[in-house]
Amino acid sequence: MMWHKNSNKHLTRMSTRKKVHAFVRVRPTDDFAHEMIRYGDDNKTIDIHLKKDTRRGVVNNQQTDWSFKLDGVLHDASQDLVYETVAKDVVSQALDGYNGTIMCYGQTGAGKTYTMTGTTENYRHRGILPRALQQVFRMIEERPTHAITVRVSYLEIYNESLFDLLSTLPYVGPSATPVAIVENPHGVFIKGLSVHLTSQEEDAFSLLFEGETNRIIASHTMNKNSSRSHCIFTIYVEARSRTLSDEKYITSKINLVDLAGSERLGKSGSEGQVLKEATYINKSLSFLEQAIIALGDQKRGHIPFRQCKLTHALKDSLGGNCNMVLVTNIYGEAAQLDETLSSLRFASRMKLVTTEPAVNEKYDAERMVKNLEKELVLLKQELAIHDSLIINLRQIQEVFNQFRVVLTQQEQEVEAALRRKYTLIDKNDFAAISAVQKAGLMDADGHLVGESDGQGFGLGVASYSSKPGKKTKSRRTLKEQLSSPAKKEGGSSPVSGKDMDVSTSKTQLTPLSKEGDVKDMILRDRETSNIETLPSDSPKEEPRPPRPSTPPSKPVAFEDFKNERGSEINRIFKENKSILNERRKRASETTQRINAIKREMDVTKEGLSAQRSLREKQGEYEKKGLIIIDEEEFLLILKLKDLKKQYRAEYQDLRDLRAEIQYCQHLVDQCRHRLLTEFEIWYNESFFIPEDMQAALKPGSSIRPGMVPLSRIVSLGEDDQDKFSQLQQDVLPEGPESISFYNAKVKREQKHSYLKSTLGLPKAQRK
Ligand code: ADP
Ligand code: MG
Repeated sequence: MMWHKNSNKHLTRMSTRKKVHAFVRVRPTDDFAHEMIRYGDDNKTIDIHLKKDTRRGVVNNQQTDWSFKLDGVLHDASQDLVYETVAKDVVSQALDGYNGTIMCYGQTGAGKTYTMTGTTENYRHRGILPRALQQVFRMIEERPTHAITVRVSYLEIYNESLFDLLSTLPYVGPSATPVAIVENPHGVFIKGLSVHLTSQEEDAFSLLFEGETNRIIASHTMNKNSSRSHCIFTIYVEARSRTLSDEKYITSKINLVDLAGSERLGKSGSEGQVLKEATYINKSLSFLEQAIIALGDQKRGHIPFRQCKLTHALKDSLGGNCNMVLVTNIYGEAAQLDETLSSLRFASRMKLVTTEPAVNEKYDAERMVKNLEKELVLLKQELAIHDSLIINLRQIQEVFNQFRVVLTQQEQEVEAALRRKYTLIDKNDFAAISAVQKAGLMDADGHLVGESDGQGFGLGVASYSSKPGKKTKSRRTLKEQLSSPAKKEGGSSPVSGKDMDVSTSKTQLTPLSKEGDVKDMILRDRETSNIETLPSDSPKEEPRPPRPSTPPSKPVAFEDFKNERGSEINRIFKENKSILNERRKRASETTQRINAIKREMDVTKEGLSAQRSLREKQGEYEKKGLIIIDEEEFLLILKLKDLKKQYRAEYQDLRDLRAEIQYCQHLVDQCRHRLLTEFEIWYNESFFIPEDMQAALKPGSSIRPGMVPLSRIVSLGEDDQDKFSQLQQDVLPEGPESISFYNAKVKREQKHSYLKSTLGLPKAQRK
């Protein structure tokens, strides 16, 4: 635990001294002792009246009436109200740097755990603990000017032994490092207690639930009564201003303490373990009281913190400089009045204690070290990412290697198969070559003459049209195929190209006739031409040709892609493009027409004005106010009118066309983009990511770098499913804040049922 390591601890005292706040919460009952327990109108006083015990005789000085004045009596109070009254201010001040401690004290069964933790089954009945976590995270959200970290720990003290309720698997065995309280010049801290950084509410809830579950499990496996131990849930807050100087920062702790049952021992002759437990509890509770009282006494120098684990662990969180709240839980029934009285006495004594809350302000001399530590963490993370990448690369390499092995094997097999059937002649074996040439099987260049369809002859390509059922129309000679491997019909086969590499390398293949006559065999093969045994690359049977050893160039691959996977998008692309072109053509035609109309209009206008000036020259004007025009001029006017109409119509068309063109252009661009994007993906998938790798990288496959997250292994059992849906129903009325509460709960349950089943944890037995 690094918490107290900071140097230059500095406390800024508040000017006013504060009292410990003491509240009483009464557990609801139908059998409330109205005669004996009375509340004052101020809601702060509680009066106890004991009926005089007449059996004790006439002279009886026994006190029968007590009045306790506290900070509040919580009677029939909801969890909401309890939180508002008891915890809200403490938590909010913790974010300003004040330590806070809230303790529940009281007899077993009086409601301490209910008050502190609440029920984990029902969001509405959650206690102070989850609400405090919620408030902390909400306040962090409201303070963007501060970088605030939250950590939590959960400590259990049972019979003066310390247990970490958040050590990962407490039921597997005791934790490796024993938990112990250690003091150094900077304060007290608990060595071996795990402190968990939580960045969100749900994580914090998970830890809380984890702790609660561990508390129950531990109590069963270690046969200890959970009400016999003290539990301290601590929220550590560290706030640094994002805007102000870096060296100053604030730290605080909120201790939420669920004390062991305060009932006094020896009522019914306790013995053995029960006696031991009771002794420890009585001791620690009275030491707690002593310590708090001593803290409140300003004249007191020495505070007996180290007398017991409880006070020792809480050394810097009791009285003194922190906000302290005590909730005393009592029963309302008459039968418990003795214990109730004793609890109330404790409460009123606590109320007298004054504290002096102070801000824990720290000046960070170790800031640089911390920064370096942070950097180290980041670098480690980076390294981790790097490592996982290396794992990936290694895996990819491994897959490639496997491919290479398979390929080599296949090559060898093919060669072996060929050798079984054919004689391989060494290129340098001139005698053999000339013999073959003499037999007319090889031309002067050393190329084979003949056809490709020899049985088992893995060379060349059968055109699709040469499949059985179709009459073979054109057969290419082996020579043709060898000299023009790229110009193949019926689809390309990279594998056959590969085979050709084999054949044209060191050795030349010559079919070998068992009868001795090579020529005969070829003739015979010509007649039978068993095409079916050829390695077929008919597109029907093999839509995806095997991968070539080197990827084709992108332009070549693009053509393939357009015929293959990209065919549909390419079709749409082409369609859009042709529509676009058609519209463009129409637009240009329309433009031409418009220009023609315009020219004609100009001509007509000219004609008209010529007519007009002619008319003026001839002096043919007005007759009774009317202008007399001749027929020619009239026709010209009509024509111009008509042309204008045409012009307008065409112009409208052009505008529509332009809009359409723009739209089509957009579609075409989009299609082109998609075509290219999908091509890139296809290209990489087809030629760069090995097929095995592709399969392996799909979700749910075997290769998963790094740790497999628990959530993947943990499957919801049917019970859990039921619980989950039940929970979801419960959640609905609670509003969205409850989601993280329930999420954490479900996760915890899943995790525990998983761990239980894997570890074979024996079912906890109830006594
Ligand atoms: P303690 O921790 O003090 O031993 P618990 O908190 O376990 O006591 O309470 C005992 C029982 O009483 C639990 O079942 C709890 O749910 C119930 N209980 C306690 N206080 C209340 C309350 N205020 N309202 C409803 N139920 C309560
Ligand atoms: Mg309890």
